[in-house]
Amino acid sequence: MEVFVEKFADLKILRYAVPGFEALDLNRKLYIYYLSEAALCGRDILWDQNNRYNLRLRAVLETIWDTFKGDRDTDSFKSFEIYLKRVWFSNGIHHHYSTEKIPVGFSETYFDELVANSLWGDFKLPFGVELEDFIASLKDVLFDPKKEAKRVNLDPDKDLIQASSNNYYKEVTQSEAEAFYTGLKASAGSEPVSYGLNSTLVKEKDQLVEKVWKVDGKYGKAIEKIVFWLAKASEYAENDLQKKHIASLIEYYKTGDLSLFDQYSIEWVKELEGDIDFVNGFIEVYGDPLGIKASWESIVNYKDKEATKRAVILSENAQWFEDHSPVSAEFKKPAVKGVSAKVINVAILAGDCYPATPIGINLPNAEWIREKHGSKSVTIENITYAYFLESMNNGMLEEFAGSEEEMERARQYGYLAGNLHTDLHECLGHGSGKVREGVSTENLKNYYSTIEETRADLFALYYMM
Ligand SMILES: [Zn+2]
Repeated sequence: MEVFVEKFADLKILRYAVPGFEALDLNRKLYIYYLSEAALCGRDILWDQNNRYNLRLRAVLETIWDTFKGDRDTDSFKSFEIYLKRVWFSNGIHHHYSTEKIPVGFSETYFDELVANSLWGDFKLPFGVELEDFIASLKDVLFDPKKEAKRVNLDPDKDLIQASSNNYYKEVTQSEAEAFYTGLKASAGSEPVSYGLNSTLVKEKDQLVEKVWKVDGKYGKAIEKIVFWLAKASEYAENDLQKKHIASLIEYYKTGDLSLFDQYSIEWVKELEGDIDFVNGFIEVYGDPLGIKASWESIVNYKDKEATKRAVILSENAQWFEDHSPVSAEFKKPAVKGVSAKVINVAILAGDCYPATPIGINLPNAEWIREKHGSKSVTIENITYAYFLESMNNGMLEEFAGSEEEMERARQYGYLAGNLHTDLHECLGHGSGKVREGVSTENLKNYYSTIEETRADLFALYYMM
């Protein structure tokens, strides 16, 4: 299979195969189909979470793309096309990885020309707003480098919320948000819900209020559609545990009640029998410098039975790896709990998992659930395979390998070694270790995500090298 599709700016688009899908029975295919429909409904939630101008800007850029009557065969139009593709790829105006605002690459004068030569008759404007004012309000965002400059700013000398242009907080300072959530956590006990995970924190009349993301709340229209498709999917679930956690997820989406999200997560961790699995919800907190608010994502997958044997060997020996890891004894888990590992192929990726995809996942994130009930860890085989195939053709090996022998070794074992690295990172790395009594992962704030990823990766590399 040819995986390479196209290349622009600093991006390469690859295609991935779905091996083994055809061999699934009809019931399982239908289950995947309905879960995939649910996965398609949350895209705009993520765009809005990433930045409050994203959806409006996307509508304007796509209208130009669809209706521009001028010459499309110019350098300026090519620059516009690349910019639009970058925005599509990054789910908004900030680079998906650096989170810095993507430079537009064409002039403000040219943008005026694009607008003037496009058709706006069908364009949906907010009530009472003229097109001219609407476009003018977005031009600052596009062309002023200081405006909405960085989506996630982790500079400790700054107010992290004020300096970040994500859309999780409105008119709120870092210290106000921290005080708000510290207050909630103070009385929470040893099994706290993930406070703030599914809401926007706003200041209204000097009061801090959470706008909860649920069917009759913020993002309600999209969430209602997700719930509709999840209910359909439930009819084709492989077993009762799947039906049960889907029901809890739906209740959580309807009410926004975070204790139901925990209930769902615990039920989800326990379901290990089925071949199909999925994630659909507000999961990872990388987009919030305080690590509180979660972006929406979805992934639907099916088990790669042959490759799963590899991961099972690791997970069955999780305690050995824990005991021999090079960290101080006080940070080791005396008994590693339920690391369930499998290798999967994804049928669809959506929201924050797409188009830049993870190659492994380890969930749930709530520390106490992981410690008490365990976690599920996966390596995404069809994605890593696409990366591997591309790496064989992109010249990297020829440029950087030290010898013909090393190249041969990489061709022969590179794929397996890469997957073992991901298995170790996800299935053992993230699940390993414990924090000191009285310390919670949230204490690390802006450093948490980076340190946690580094920790998991070093764990893997230690055993690889
Ligand atoms: Zn990781």
